[in-house]
Amino acid sequence: MKIKLALHWQIIIGMVLGGVFGALLANFDWGKPFIENWIYPFGELFINLLKLIAIPLIVASLIKGICDMQDISKLSSIGIRTMALYIFTTTCAIVIGLTIANIVKPGSGISEETIAQLTSDAETTSIVSQRISDSEAQDTNFVEYLVSIVPDNIFSALGDNNQMLQVIFFTMLLGISLLIIGDEKAAPLKRFFDSLNDAVLKMVDLIIKIAPIAVFALLANVVVGTDDVDVLLALLKYSFTVLAGLALMVVVYMLMVSLYAKKNPIWFLKKMSPVQLLAFSTSSSAAALPVNMERVHEHIGVDEEVSSFVLPVGATINMDGTSLYQAVATIFICEALHFDITFGDQLTIVFTALLASIGTAGVPGVGMIMLIIVLQSINFPPEKLPVGIALILSVDRILDMCRTTINITGDAAVATVVAKSVGKLNDPKVSED
Ligand code: ASP
Repeated sequence: MKIKLALHWQIIIGMVLGGVFGALLANFDWGKPFIENWIYPFGELFINLLKLIAIPLIVASLIKGICDMQDISKLSSIGIRTMALYIFTTTCAIVIGLTIANIVKPGSGISEETIAQLTSDAETTSIVSQRISDSEAQDTNFVEYLVSIVPDNIFSALGDNNQMLQVIFFTMLLGISLLIIGDEKAAPLKRFFDSLNDAVLKMVDLIIKIAPIAVFALLANVVVGTDDVDVLLALLKYSFTVLAGLALMVVVYMLMVSLYAKKNPIWFLKKMSPVQLLAFSTSSSAAALPVNMERVHEHIGVDEEVSSFVLPVGATINMDGTSLYQAVATIFICEALHFDITFGDQLTIVFTALLASIGTAGVPGVGMIMLIIVLQSINFPPEKLPVGIALILSVDRILDMCRTTINITGDAAVATVVAKSVGKLNDPKVSED
């Protein structure tokens, strides 16, 4: 008898074996280069495959979603609800982060020796200066950001995974125009995109089959590259504060899904588990997006009209986990380096972390680059900035994995609530895992 293990179990097994393999090989000099050169490429290949299909999937499913809508006014009601909920959940996340950090005070009592130990090595210094210069490049004003959402060339936007909002903008314009020109004239393009949509969803199914092997490679690489346990222990209080905040965000999503969408929250999390595990392993909301779109539509029952808009927009601008982490990290760094912050500064953190969430790309490590902008907004002394960032660098990867998991769960919870509010939450097409 052939027993078929549910996908999330296959992925969990891959992750655990990868972690153990990485920990074993970390004991040998050749272990790290071996994993980097021969094992990690399988993980990279998987991430590339996911990113490869993201743009075609967004275009095809959004066009299908808009054309099925029949009525343009629905689009604006979905848009307004989505934006309002994204702002709501991100603000909740930042307030939760600030509140717990103010209670726990993760940075108090951290000794000068620990600070020196965490910040002194040459590799850390060079990564930190790279992050600081990256943050300078990110620091555009909000109006410039809005203007940049309208691309001046759709082919260059389609060719750049960092331009998802620009692609969404063009696709919506195209979808609306197809609705206006009427069924007869729109039919050939509609059929083309319908068929592309089915084909790309099938590609998601095929790609996910190699997920257990890919997560093995990704986790082995994370574990073999992790610093000494001593260093991690010094940051235990800080890491736990971030993790406790992220856990509270899961409770917020569960409440949203159960109270408003009337769905069992445990069922929701179970359906989300494969994509959560992928977000955790890849640290990238953008890489997890195709699978998130497939899960939310086919396994949770959110109509494509909603999921095809809400999820890609969320992967680009809604980063609840990241903003919560930024709130905690800011308080931690300020406490550890004795920089006093006022209540007014905390309000500034809410506002800048909200904007930073919009500007954070869904790839590994960007949350930390945007953290620099949050610190600058409260006039954190520039000469202390490198030390502040170096302080949290060694645990950033693991926290990135956790915050990315929350980022994509937040997108899915909002999609479910928006779908319910416009009567587009159906019975799922696929009931088993
Ligand atoms: N890795 C995160 C994401 O992709 C962004 C970050 O916090 O660095 O959602």
